[in-house]
Amino acid sequence: MKKSVFFTTSPGATRKLGSEMAKEKKKEGRSASGAVVLGLRGDLGGGKTTFLQGFAKGLGVKEKILSPTFVIFKKFKIKKSGFKEFFHFDCYRIDSPKEILSLGFEKIISDPKNIVAIEWPERIEKILPQNAIEINFIFLKKNKRKITLRGAF
Ligand code: ADP
Ligand code: MG
Repeated sequence: MKKSVFFTTSPGATRKLGSEMAKEKKKEGRSASGAVVLGLRGDLGGGKTTFLQGFAKGLGVKEKILSPTFVIFKKFKIKKSGFKEFFHFDCYRIDSPKEILSLGFEKIISDPKNIVAIEWPERIEKILPQNAIEINFIFLKKNKRKITLRGAF
């Protein structure tokens, strides 16, 4: 299991890190055993959504990623890749894993053509796949974040 630590000093640098990671994932291609799943942990304002804006761009998603405030998840097309769809979940408002299971979560994470990013995965810890890549965001200063990656990447 690899672990990497990054410091960014602007939202743009965090987006760039996300974009680079996405390109890496695209290059690796899909596995036989389910979706690529990322769990993004850390405080509000830590940069999770900012990271995913770059990540989605790196995947070739055309739409802009926003915080899905009134919905639990959004789905985007991935162009020109073995991967087909990018899912952005925000579990901040979820009280029980049941809420997300009723949205077809298990089917989504079992499809190797999907890439699934989950903000606040701690809310659904029990049903997170074991191979989920963990990304931690720590707020250090107004513009400075410590970002730690851990898992299969
Ligand atoms: P989260 O999704 O973790 O709640 P957001 O990405 O929505 O966080 O918000 C992060 C906020 O912090 C944004 O307003 C962004 O512009 C700002 N910011 C400042 N510096 C950074 C940085 N180095 N990385 C990411 N975001 C930063
Ligand atoms: Mg967010």
